[in-house]
Amino acid sequence: MLRAIYPGSFDPVTFGHLDIIKRSSRLVDELIVGVLNNKAKSPLFSVEERVRMLEEVTGDIPNIRIVPFGGLLVDFARRAEAGMVIRGLRAITDFEYELQMAQTNHKMVPEIETAFLTTNLEYSYLSSTTVKEVAAFGGDISQFVPKLIADRITEKIKKKESVD
Ligand code: ADP
Repeated sequence: MLRAIYPGSFDPVTFGHLDIIKRSSRLVDELIVGVLNNKAKSPLFSVEERVRMLEEVTGDIPNIRIVPFGGLLVDFARRAEAGMVIRGLRAITDFEYELQMAQTNHKMVPEIETAFLTTNLEYSYLSSTTVKEVAAFGGDISQFVPKLIADRITEKIKKKESVD
C-alpha cells in the first residue's frame, strides 16, 4: 500500500494545489494532505480553517485525508507511515529550494522518497500569496480559487480591515 503526503501551507488552497491533489491521488492508495501549522509564518487563515477549507473542496476524492502537522516533515511522514512526499514544481525558482529540502529529508530518512509533479501550465503562475494580494486590493480571484474559498478570503480580509 502506497501512502503519500502532500505537505504545504495551503493559505489558502488554490486551483494549482487542487490540480496536484487530484493528479497525485490517482497515483497512490492514500493521499494525506499535510497542513503546516507554522506560527512563524503568520498565515491569513488558522490551521483549523485551512484544514476545513481543504476538506470542503476535496470532498469528492475518496482516498484522501487532510491532517494538520507541525515540526519536521520527515517525523510527520514516519508517524503517518507514509513512504512518499509529493511536491508541486511551478518554475525554475521553486527548483532550488525543493531540491535542497528533498535532499535534506532523504539524508535524514532515506526510506522516504520525494516525488515532484510539474504544474499544469494553466496554473504555473499561481500562488497563495498573489491570490491574497489581488484580493486585498479588491481584485477578482474567481479564476484562481474555488468560489467557496474566494468567499472566505473576502470575508477574512474584510474582518481584518475592520480590526486594523
Ligand atoms: P509551502 O509553504 O510549503 O511552499 P504552499 O501551500 O505554498 O506551501 O505549496 C505547497 C506545495 O504546492 C508546494 O510543493 C508548491 O510548490 C505547490 N504549489 C503551490 N502552488 C502551485 C501551483 N500553482 N501549481 C502547482 N503546484 C503548486
